[in-house]
Amino acid sequence: MEAGSRSKSGEQCPVGKPPSDMTKVLVVEDNSANMTLATFLLESVGHTVLKASDAEAGVALAHAEQPDLILMDIQLPGMDGLRATGLLKGDATTRDIPVIALTALAMKGDEERIRAAGCDGYIAKPLSYKDFLETISNQLEKRAAGKT
Ligand code: MN
Repeated sequence: MEAGSRSKSGEQCPVGKPPSDMTKVLVVEDNSANMTLATFLLESVGHTVLKASDAEAGVALAHAEQPDLILMDIQLPGMDGLRATGLLKGDATTRDIPVIALTALAMKGDEERIRAAGCDGYIAKPLSYKDFLETISNQLEKRAAGKT
C-alpha cells in the first residue's frame, strides 16, 4: 500500500507572489470596522496593507513608505481626508501616488469636491467588495501603465 503523498514533511508549496509584484496600499480610516473590512479585502487579493487611523499619521506613512495607492477616508478626527489629500498632492515626493477617497457622501457636489481636492477616484461606503476591488485594480492598472 502507498503511504500517500504526505510521506515526508507535509510542507506546503509557497504560494505567495514574488516581491516585485507586491503592492503596498495605505488605508487611512478611523472606523475600525471599515478598516478591518478594507484590510481583509486587500489582503485577500495579495496586497500589503499599511494602516493609519488619522490624517496626520497617514501623511507621515505615505512619506515614509511610498505606497502604490492610498485609500483615504474623508471624515477623520482632526485634519480631514480632503485636506490630507491636498497636502499629499502638493508635495513632490507624494503627489504621484493615487488617492482614492472613501466616502459616505455620494452626491454630485461631493464628487466634484473630492476631485477638486486632488483625489483620483472614490469609493462609496458602505463598502461593496466587488466595487471596492474593481476600483482598486483599475487604479493600479492605470498607474502601472503610466509608469513604464
Ligand atoms: Mn471616518
